[in-house]
Amino acid sequence: MRVKLKRIVSIANQKGGVGKTTTAINMAAAIATKGHKVLVIDLDPQGNASTGLGISPDNREYTAYDVLVDGIDINEAIIKTHVKNLSLITSNTDLSSADAELMNDKGRLIKLRNAIEKVKGFDYVFIDCPPSLNLLTINAFAASDSVLVPLQSEFYALEGLSQLILTVREVREALGTSLFIDGVVLTMFDKRVKLAQQVEVDVRDNLKDLVYKTIIPRTVRLSEAPSYGETILEYDASGRGAEAYVSLGAEFLRRDKVKQR
Ligand code: ATP
Ligand code: MG
Repeated sequence: MRVKLKRIVSIANQKGGVGKTTTAINMAAAIATKGHKVLVIDLDPQGNASTGLGISPDNREYTAYDVLVDGIDINEAIIKTHVKNLSLITSNTDLSSADAELMNDKGRLIKLRNAIEKVKGFDYVFIDCPPSLNLLTINAFAASDSVLVPLQSEFYALEGLSQLILTVREVREALGTSLFIDGVVLTMFDKRVKLAQQVEVDVRDNLKDLVYKTIIPRTVRLSEAPSYGETILEYDASGRGAEAYVSLGAEFLRRDKVKQR
């Protein structure tokens, strides 16, 4: 069955440094490599997804800021990456003032949603959210079908999750969408650390089927790849990081197919 055009997924967790961007770019690359047309939207003023996909700040002509605040045609902001089937809307520090600049704009919650409606020709859109439940993240949620939550395999993994779930519900109710949490993914998992194993047990006990079977291991390769502007599929194609993200991409597609039945 052909997938519905444009499944839109926010990659979000208001906790910083849990693996959102690493998951966004590498899972997107894995799915693009399978032949799906994928768009990554960098919605974080840090611009890490843009850097990680090899687009230096000088090469970001139109960014997510121009789309949200200046209202340029979103299609003008889409650029191709060096990965086949993978396109990107970049971001930079300009985006950090979007919240303030849109303050008096009545439609501020649905800027991205309205813009994305004009995007054609993609099977999947992944939005890399900033580490906050701010206006940018609300815009991502308002535009999305679902939210994928990376959880770092550490003691406080579940902390903040209830606030995130509440925000998802608020957006769904306020905007009348059918936004849901697609799942949570354990990241930076070190199997030698006993605590990590305990965290996995706790998270699976608490969240059951919401938790992806695939676990992303902690590997230094995943942290090195962005500094070369490469995805893990290029930087270390035969390593554990690439294997994990290929597996995560496949699991995402399987789950997505089941939901469409
Ligand atoms: P932020 O909240 O700042 O946007 P984030 O949630 O997007 O952060 P990442 O940038 O993906 O998190 O990851 C944080 C740091 O950890 C980065 O330096 C990244 O390279 C590294 N990292 C991410 N995943 C792994 C992993 N599985 N193994 C080792 N290092 C990782
Ligand atoms: Mg990030």
